[in-house]
Parts: sequence; C-alpha cells; structure tokens
Amino acid sequence: MILRRQIQKIKPEKICLRGLSERELSRLSTQLGEQAYRGAQLARWIYGENVSCFKQINNLPQAFLNTLQERTELSNLEWVETGVSSDRSEKFLFRTQDNLYVETVWIRKNGRNTVCLSSQVGCKMNCSFCASSKGGFVRNLSASEITSQLALVQARVKEPVHNLVYMGMGEPLENVDAVMKSIEIVHSPWGYGIGSRRITVSTVGLVPGIEKFSEKTLRQVRLSISIHSPFDRTRSRIVPINRKYSLKTLMQTLVQHRAKFGREYTFEYTLLQGVNDSDKDAHELARLAKQTGSKVNLIAYNPIEDAEFERPELSRMRAFRRILDRHHVRNTLRISSGVDINAACGQLRLKKIESRNTKVDFRD
Ligand code: SF4
Repeated sequence: MILRRQIQKIKPEKICLRGLSERELSRLSTQLGEQAYRGAQLARWIYGENVSCFKQINNLPQAFLNTLQERTELSNLEWVETGVSSDRSEKFLFRTQDNLYVETVWIRKNGRNTVCLSSQVGCKMNCSFCASSKGGFVRNLSASEITSQLALVQARVKEPVHNLVYMGMGEPLENVDAVMKSIEIVHSPWGYGIGSRRITVSTVGLVPGIEKFSEKTLRQVRLSISIHSPFDRTRSRIVPINRKYSLKTLMQTLVQHRAKFGREYTFEYTLLQGVNDSDKDAHELARLAKQTGSKVNLIAYNPIEDAEFERPELSRMRAFRRILDRHHVRNTLRISSGVDINAACGQLRLKKIESRNTKVDFRD
C-alpha cells in the first residue's frame, strides 16, 4: 500500500530498487502485475549480483523488465571522481539526483577491506575538528542512497567487503530510520549478506538515537561513540551536542543499554595536541571506558585546512595509550590514513563545493 502511494506520489521520478527489502520488492512486483516470487529474483540480481543495468538481468520476463526500466532505477547516485591515497585507500565522490555531493571511503588495511559510508549531506553537529560540518547541513540521505554508495564502490573496486562503517559524512543516528533500513539491506541473506558483527555505526552521542537504535537493531551491530574528551567542559567545545546530552547522561544510557540488550561499545577518541591528550584525560577516559565496558580507539588527528587543532607528537600518543593499558582498557591507536586524498570526513566534498561555487551553495 505504502509502495503504491509512493509510486503514484513520486511520478515521474523513479523508485530506486536498491533501497527496497526483499518483501518490498515482492510487493512492488505484484503491484506491477507480476508474481510475488519475482521480488526474491530481483533481490538476487540487485544485491547478490550487484547489477548496474536491467539488461544484465536474464531470467525475468522482458515485459516486466521494460516496466521496471520505465518506472524504477537501480541506483540514485552518480560517480564523480576517485582520489587514491599512497596507502591505497580510495575516496569516492558521488552526486545525488538533486546535485549534492556524497563521500564514501574504501580502506585497505592488513588484507581487510572496509567501506566507510555517509548518512547525510553535510552535518549539523558542528564538531570543531571536522570538515563535514564546515560545508553545512543540507539533508538526510535515503536508505537507497546509503546502499547505493556500497554498490557503486563495490562495482568499481571489485574486491570483497569485509567491514562496513557508518563513519562518513553526517551523524547516522540523526537519520536513524534510513540507517537502520540500510543495515537491514546490507546484512540480510537476500541483501549483501555482510555479518552484523562487521557493521559499525558511529555517533557523537545522540541519546534518543542510541535508545531507538539499541532497541531495534541487531545486538551484534557495533555502536561506536565519539567521546573525544572525558570532561564536559572540553567535550562541549569539541562536540557541541554534549551541551544537550552531557557525559553523565550519555554514560547512564550506555550502561542501561548494555545491561538490557548486551550491547558493546567502542569509544572513538581523536587525539588533539594540548586539548585532550594529557595524562589526566587518559585516566578519566579509562574510568569511563571501564564503567561502560568499552574498548577505546585512539585516532591521531587528521589536520584539515583552517582548523584550530594539531596532531600530538607520537611519543605523547604512545604515553596516552600506556595509561589505558595500565587500566586494562582494550585500545588501539590509528594514525589516520589518507591525508593526501583529503580523507577526513567531508574534506573532498568541501573542496568540490569551494572549487565549483563562488557563493555559499551546496549544489553544482
Ligand atoms: S565528526 Fe561526525 S558528527 Fe561531528 S560534525 Fe563531523 S560528521 Fe558530523
């Protein structure tokens, strides 16, 4: 019913098949005069085979394919350019149908491939070290635009995807319904079949989003919380949403949901010289991590133009890490890759906007 309304409502725009579940594809098939089982066949072609045009589908009636071609589409993003880093990470810039730019990153590390997806065009959160917020917020991405990023990157790279992270442009839990729908598609056996433990969603700590996500998404999908400071005063400066949802509120939410749903968390912590890299910061971060049973990922700051921060010396980052070790907090240190392809989230889009527009506008 909803689909029928969509078909009528969005005419002459086309429905993007890549955002539909197997059940929705079945319903669409019957609405277009075909048998419901055609939906499962379509899902296999779209997700299993990752087809990019209807001509590649060879076991559906030609009349049905003609109707699909006329009224639907397989992807609603268009590739614009790819930047390749010296460490072989690749950053893809895509254009939406309303001429907005979306970034997706392909990261190769230790024989594992990770795709980093965007969930919004721009971001409202205004984290002070991030390029995404500097271009402003435009709109949420739809589930089909999120899954299309994966499809288009996979089609170009032609390698298996081992991990999927929602850490590109945008705050995923501000667009929680579309993100959850895309997770259903990438995880399901009829979809891309990526294991739930290999999917990570990153948030700055939007408490209502964490609650909804924790209740409705598979427990094994990992939530990664951007902490960046264990003290409210500094955190509010770096991550302004902390003024609304303080560390105390956030920690209480995490503890509750861990107890209720058995959910595990990772803390993301970008090390900024002289801001959050002291011994005192490390001890307090360890306390919060232990309180919530979280692992800590330390990230060396990836400088962006006009930013007020700097990356700490390697010796300082290692000293910070040793304190976490002494508290028996599981941790990693990542020296951000891809500086030479503007890989901090939002940087490539920002450059594109700057080069194409003399006035502040997010479109071509
Ligand atoms: S770090 Fe994430 S949440 Fe913060 S402004 Fe950037 S994209 Fe948004």
